[in-house]
Amino acid sequence: MTTPYALQVDSVAKAFGGNRVLEKVGFSIRPGEIVGLLGPNGSGKSTLLNTITGFESIDAGTVRFEGRRIDSLNAHRIVQAGIARTFQLPSMPRKMSVAEVAMAASTEHHGVWENLFGSRAAGLAETRARARAGALMDQLLLTPVRDLSAAAISGGQKKLLGIVCALMAQPRMLMLDEPTAGVHPNLRSDIVRALQRLNDAGMTIVIVEHDMHFIREVCHRCIVLDRGHIVADCRPDELASNERVLQAYLGGAAAKPAGGATATPVLRMGAA
Ligand code: ADP
Ligand code: MG
Repeated sequence: MTTPYALQVDSVAKAFGGNRVLEKVGFSIRPGEIVGLLGPNGSGKSTLLNTITGFESIDAGTVRFEGRRIDSLNAHRIVQAGIARTFQLPSMPRKMSVAEVAMAASTEHHGVWENLFGSRAAGLAETRARARAGALMDQLLLTPVRDLSAAAISGGQKKLLGIVCALMAQPRMLMLDEPTAGVHPNLRSDIVRALQRLNDAGMTIVIVEHDMHFIREVCHRCIVLDRGHIVADCRPDELASNERVLQAYLGGAAAKPAGGATATPVLRMGAA
């Protein structure tokens, strides 16, 4: 890698009709960082993830991963380049089990391997993928529901399955869109541990999240979007005293609340 950065986003713009959702968005992420992407509802967080991961085109700017331009690649090629993601509202197929969905996310597809390398290689690839799916389902606590319909599990379990699917692609960077929203509090600490283990093994992670406990525990750095502009790039413990962050969340009436404690419906800042 000739660049010190995993991800470089430069002057990215995106509009839907007359709605300018991202304007001159630029930031860089180093390998091994865990970065929180914050901002009020509608500020452009999911759209930013969509543009980086090839689910939406950009109108202007560039996106580089490990030094290489990826902004004209489709979503499939971006996964192959090393970035995998989850969705804010995962929808799962009714007719597939949890384990089948995990296997379907494997990049080692039997048919492709058979065409390229013959049936023995395809068999080995499938065995590898099965072992990987099993280990990931175990790590994300889905083994007890592995044979249930993927549509029948809870919203929180669907989020976990989304993470399993992303990891099946063996990415070097993981982008998670609200991984703990709707997840039972007991499962949150398991997600925290799973993400920290992945990060210890070198994974770069970007997380869209509102829960300040989670952000403080997991993120090294936070980027805050407000109406399509980056208004802050700081440590999690600096958020509560950042005027522009408060302004973004509280709107025009922003003022430092008495006692410094902040509680808004969208950025949940509980006691640390
Ligand atoms: P966030 O994830 O921060 O809540 P989004 O990125 O989902 O915000 O949305 C930002 C803005 O972009 C909203 O005004 C939303 O209506 C608009 N938007 C997002 N996706 C689309 C789309 N596919 N078509 C039209 N407008 C969209
Ligand atoms: Mg969103």
